[in-house]
Amino acid sequence: MNGESYFNFIQEAKLFMSKNNENNFVDYKMPEKESLLVAKQREYLSIAMQKAFENLDDNLVKFESKYSCNGLKVNWAVDYDDVLNKLRSIISKRKVKTANYSNHYIYKEIGLEDLLKKEKVKYTENIADINFIDVDMLVSETGSLLVLDSKMDKTKRINSGSINVFIIGLERVIKSLNDAEIYWKVMYSLLEKKYDTPILLKPKNKENDYLFILDNGRTNMFSMKKQRIALTCLHCGECKKVCPVYNTVGEVSYNNVFTGPIGNIMLPFFEDISSYKFAPYACLLCGNCEKVCPVLLPLKDLILENRIYLFESKNVDSSDKKRYGTYKTTVISRKKMNRSKFFRKLALKRFLTKPLRKKRKFPELSKTTFNQQYIQATQNESR
Ligand code: SF4
Repeated sequence: MNGESYFNFIQEAKLFMSKNNENNFVDYKMPEKESLLVAKQREYLSIAMQKAFENLDDNLVKFESKYSCNGLKVNWAVDYDDVLNKLRSIISKRKVKTANYSNHYIYKEIGLEDLLKKEKVKYTENIADINFIDVDMLVSETGSLLVLDSKMDKTKRINSGSINVFIIGLERVIKSLNDAEIYWKVMYSLLEKKYDTPILLKPKNKENDYLFILDNGRTNMFSMKKQRIALTCLHCGECKKVCPVYNTVGEVSYNNVFTGPIGNIMLPFFEDISSYKFAPYACLLCGNCEKVCPVLLPLKDLILENRIYLFESKNVDSSDKKRYGTYKTTVISRKKMNRSKFFRKLALKRFLTKPLRKKRKFPELSKTTFNQQYIQATQNESR
């Protein structure tokens, strides 16, 4: 691909839009500051993504047929091993020694860094033999890739004559250029205005340009009627910033690239369910995350849906079941809740098993029960 072909593509796309009587083609100039954060854009994006989602099959087929009209192939990858094997073969055939990539979540998801280490490919900030270019969206009606660029950095790399690899999850497809524009505006406002230039790419070089569309558990999640909406997540990280659980336990306990509220929803479907059945319970249901999500995901409800799903599919440990059973009978019994400090401490010790107590300091219990404190407080108030 060369610089010219990109501009040609813009012209082609404009022509395409005008033929289809749509005169709202993106004019790539910066939108006004004030309009960036308008809630309507988020609402529009949420609806556009959900619509694209409802016809995911259709949109992907349309995308592939438009994309491959230049003779290029879409590489469909079932899981990360699939992508890694194909990358390994490109690296060895093309004798790749240097690579350039960002810290985009998709590279962490597939384990790109480990592969490059094993293949002795070194990271470079200069012109590399292979460029991993972050793709934001697939635009189905034009068969193009939407890439958000900063200071034309990615554009320079793409046009450097090196191998370009584009990897994207299969849920990241939107229908029109108009939707692409709104997506960019929302991302621009979210990510500290870092990505100042949206590029629409239509790779043409069969030898150098490789596109991988990754499943890796996404179709699993897509089969869940209620939870699948979570695939419209933009991975902006806003929900994590306001999550009290995530801010206490941090990234480490997830041992995955998907963490925080959205990780609690996705992980049981993206990974082996038995390893992540704890995830939906790592939530206090405070709802902070829902207030900041740019695509208005009902995160709290989705976490609850996951709990129901795990329970119904018998993915709950018997020890957890027992523990919650005891907890329930205790909290609904006034007699048990009014026990002395000694007995309350004993009961809590049974609930918080040894491994849990090892990691956390045992809470200091009050001498008086909650019931006694409540009565005291209401009596004081009425005096
Ligand atoms: S705030 Fe919403 S879009 Fe952003 S990462 Fe969380 S769930 Fe995804």
